Formats: sequence, C-alpha cells, structure tokens
Amino acid sequence: MATVSEIRARLATLNRRGSTKNPDVWKPSDEHDVRLLRNPHNADPLEEVTFHFNVGDARDLLCPKQFGDECVVCDFADQLKGFKDEKGNEKKKADKNADWEIFKKIQAQTKVYVPVIERIKDDKGNITGHSEPAWWGLTSNQSQQALAVCGEADRLRACGIDPEDDEKALDALFGTKKAFDLHVSFKKPNEKDNLKTFTVVEIKPVYLPTPLTGKATTDQELITKIKPIRDVFPKLPTTEVEAALKKFIGGGMKIEERDPKKADEKYAGASKEKSEKAGTRSVDDAFGELLDSKSSK
Ligand SMILES: [Zn+2]
Repeated sequence: MATVSEIRARLATLNRRGSTKNPDVWKPSDEHDVRLLRNPHNADPLEEVTFHFNVGDARDLLCPKQFGDECVVCDFADQLKGFKDEKGNEKKKADKNADWEIFKKIQAQTKVYVPVIERIKDDKGNITGHSEPAWWGLTSNQSQQALAVCGEADRLRACGIDPEDDEKALDALFGTKKAFDLHVSFKKPNEKDNLKTFTVVEIKPVYLPTPLTGKATTDQELITKIKPIRDVFPKLPTTEVEAALKKFIGGGMKIEERDPKKADEKYAGASKEKSEKAGTRSVDDAFGELLDSKSSK
C-alpha cells in the first residue's frame, strides 16, 4: 500500500512532466547567436546544477546532494558501479556490464548554467532584437568550447582586453561594451555535417565583437531580469526523488530483487548501442559524447 507522501510525490512528478518547457531555460534547437550575460547573483558567471537524467519518467531529476541531502539515486548508482552485489558477492561479468550501462545513464551529471539572450534576426541575418534572458545549460565539453575565446589573444585585443590580464579575459564573452556573441549550432544525427549517432552542439564565437545592446540602461535591465539559478531549479522533495527511483527500478520492486539483465534491456538500450559503437576509444571520450548528446535533448 502506497503512503500518502508517495502518492503525492508521484503526482508531483506527473505534473512536472506535463508542464510546458521552463521559460527560464534556453535550449538550442537549430542555428542561433547568443550573448552571455553576467550572473548578478554570484561572482562566478557559471552556476553548477547536478541532475539524474533518465530515472524513469522523471527526466531531469535534481540530485538532492547539491542541497546537502542524501540521495537514493546516487546510492543506487554506487551499487551499480561496484564489483560486488548487495550481498557482497562478486558480480558475474554480464551483470557487471549491465549494471555499468545503467549506472552511466542514471549517475549524477553536472551541467554548468550561464545566462544568455538570443539574438533575433530578420531574413537577411540582421539583428533586430533579442529574447528575454534565460539560463543555458552546457556540458563541460560545451562550456570549454564557449570559453575558448577568452584564451585567444587576437580576440581579446579586439575587445580592448590585454591578453595578459587574466581577470579581464572573461569580458570577451560577458562584457557589455564589446564582446563576442557565440554561434550555437545544433546538429541532429545525420543532419548538417554531423555523421554521429547522437546530437552534437558546436559553439563558436562570431567574427566581430559587438556591444550587448548598445544602451547601458537596457543592458542593466536585462541583467536584473536574470533569476537566481536556485529559483529556476528549486529543490525537490526527497520523497519525489525516492518515488522516481522506485518507479525506475520497477514499480515498487525492492532493489535486491532487481534483475539487471531485464533492467538493461528496458532502460539501457540507447547507451549500450553507443558504448558498442565507441569501439576502441577511451571510455571517458565515449562518455563525454554521451553526456553531450543527452544534454542537447
Ligand atoms: Zn544524486
């Protein structure tokens, strides 16, 4: 018999899934030019948010650990990652592999979020306006692509920044007077020049630096509209996280009763295919790409 809090948690998950997309989160879907904005709530321009993706139907489950709470999904992931089963016996090879595939899917993954506006353009490509500010989530690989500009001497000079001045380097992206917009290219599998089996997001600075809007008051208005990241991704009740995991493991089945092979077929199909295609590349490489593909969904 389910408890009231379990039922409530399940309903909360359903509601969240049914709700329209978060207006405070920006996601690329094709070709875009975006401009990064200074984070008014933190000296650090990048905010980290940790998720468990693919836990049953709850696609973007916030890991409770980032709020200082225990996390049942992390505990379960640790168990999957281990060489021994719940009883302390050595896992069979097939079970170990199956567990590893599920582990990769559900383990905690941190994305960095940065505030952006998207440039709105007319048919000829001229900028005519901009979107409201929203938070853009990047994998570590993508954030390195985005930050690359800050290490290029010529581009720093083009923004009037001394390449030796480490503290000012971020202004090449976050500056309001003169900085580079980023061109974001979202490529589905077998679309554009993406020959991979998963979505790729490419991030490159545009050719010339420009002002944010050209008006100091407008710039400031945009920056004050940015919500704190914790308001955009508020803490979930622990019961909701537990309910999602329970559902993922199989409708209230105890973890010890789980059949890893069945779970593998059911939940790890996509990542299994990827790991096989990965061939001789390092696990880390393959895994990095897996994260990229996941984050761009
Ligand atoms: Zn967790």
